Amino acid sequence: MKELPSRSLRFLKTRKKIVMGTAAVFLAAVSIAAGTAIVPSDFEVPVRLANGEVITPPWYVTANGQQVALVDSKEDAREVVKKVAQHYKNNETVKIEIEEQTSAKEMNLENGDKKPRIMTVEEAAAEIAEKEELTVKTTEVVTEEEPIAFKETHEKTDKLYVGQTKVKKEGRSGLKKVTKKITKENGEAVKTDVVEEEILQEAEPQVVLTGTKENEEALFTASRGTEKRGSGSLAAPVSTIRVTSGFGPRWGRTHLGVDLGMASGSPISAADGGTVIFAGYSGSYGNLVKIDHGNGLVTYYAHCSAILAKEGQAVEKGQTIAKVGSTGNSTGPHLHFEVRVNGENVNPMNYL
Ligand SMILES: [Zn+2]
Repeated sequence: MKELPSRSLRFLKTRKKIVMGTAAVFLAAVSIAAGTAIVPSDFEVPVRLANGEVITPPWYVTANGQQVALVDSKEDAREVVKKVAQHYKNNETVKIEIEEQTSAKEMNLENGDKKPRIMTVEEAAAEIAEKEELTVKTTEVVTEEEPIAFKETHEKTDKLYVGQTKVKKEGRSGLKKVTKKITKENGEAVKTDVVEEEILQEAEPQVVLTGTKENEEALFTASRGTEKRGSGSLAAPVSTIRVTSGFGPRWGRTHLGVDLGMASGSPISAADGGTVIFAGYSGSYGNLVKIDHGNGLVTYYAHCSAILAKEGQAVEKGQTIAKVGSTGNSTGPHLHFEVRVNGENVNPMNYL
């Protein structure tokens, strides 16, 4: 069959397709071959393009009725959708679904039309994935080991002064095996359900001793009638209050103070008059100053770049005791400020 179908046959094909869909292709094919041999039902009428090239009409990949890519054949269109879905599959994937209704739809190409942009299966799949024209929903089942955070328990002791603490027993994180069902859309997790949790090792709590002994220096100064016990009200320890992290739960742990963002080297002043009960380096606190203000009130100033006060020194309210820094467990210059009342941490913002 060398002859191309006439203009009227093409028209008939197009018109019937509107009504009958793919059956029209078959009808048109039969019309052309009328009276001759059997024609396969998937026969597609070739078209001569404006550039002289003869091709069979390409097929659209559609998503919710929208034409998203054009490929050589119906089979290719189906292959594109499969390829996009496979793109998000991994060893943990147990289910793949595509949110949109997808289908293959033949292009209405006429003799003399300009050559359309036809993509390979790979090109079409890559473009659809990049533009996220399809939503591939995958379900993965993942089993991981995760640490269990330890808790802190307090024990009172008269061997330490009020406001002083000491770790009696270091805490130890536990370990658990967690099986999760993760739902993803185009590779992004949108929902995580814990299916099963098995504790491999329990966490052991950290035991912290908190002092109950009255501070002799504070008692002594108080008995002399001087102001070393403090006024009971606290002044801001830095010139500007800019809270970068508040008091309370943070990342599954409790943030024992407030973080006040401040340039490195800025002065830190005593929030109230009192006695310096600690001035030195202390683990994750870095350079730390603790001031006992009497009446069970103690303040902490952590991550300092420099310490200007000495242990045992009596300080006045507003006196510079240290400089802002980023020592210890800190990601940038700030003052970590804690207020403890009878050994228990309270929100410093209640005082400032
Ligand atoms: Zn902090």
